[in-house]
Amino acid sequence: MREELYKFKYKTLCERLKPVLEKKSYQVYIVENAQQAKELIERLIPEGSVVSSGGSLTLSDSGILALLRSGKYRFLDRYNSPDRRKTEIEAFDSDYYLCSANAITMNGELVFMDGFGNRVAAVTFGPKNVILVVSANKIVKDLEAARERIRYISPMNAKRLSLSTPCAVTGLCQDCDSPERICRHFHVINDSRNQPGRIKIVFVLEELGL
Ligand code: SF4
Repeated sequence: MREELYKFKYKTLCERLKPVLEKKSYQVYIVENAQQAKELIERLIPEGSVVSSGGSLTLSDSGILALLRSGKYRFLDRYNSPDRRKTEIEAFDSDYYLCSANAITMNGELVFMDGFGNRVAAVTFGPKNVILVVSANKIVKDLEAARERIRYISPMNAKRLSLSTPCAVTGLCQDCDSPERICRHFHVINDSRNQPGRIKIVFVLEELGL
């Protein structure tokens, strides 16, 4: 029952947000679960395309990262690259770049927090198409709520990645000055009207990633 109620809430939010995002020239899809998200990605990306990705628990949780590695595409795999920086630079010229967002506001703002900035750079400019796979629990009211959400999840990400930050130990943000600080680049994309349809957003009505 609880799951059904959450799904009902998420569906309502996504359907309300979809026209707001379409007005800003994003392509928006709503799917029920991770399996449907994976099937949609298979339909959206032609075989043989050059594909790259940013770090994303959502992509691994949903099986999409495994799909990218399946051999159907020329996947620029930053995790298994002997020269990670070179692979991340090559990603700028890929056909499809996949990742998630940290939050999407009800005003249609896409919100990201990066440690290095490679993901926000590629989402902003370069790859011909960007696909954001976003679980509906990342929808928030406004930018202030987005900041709050990120402040809440960053310690979990720091812990997951075994970073040397105070939050990875205490579970709470201490606005640190660590060289491994995970939340260095706060980035907001307001719209995509100069490149209609380049950014595609796949909302998933179940919780994935953080
Ligand atoms: S500022 Fe530092 S302590 Fe706060 S969430 Fe980011 S990495 Fe963790």
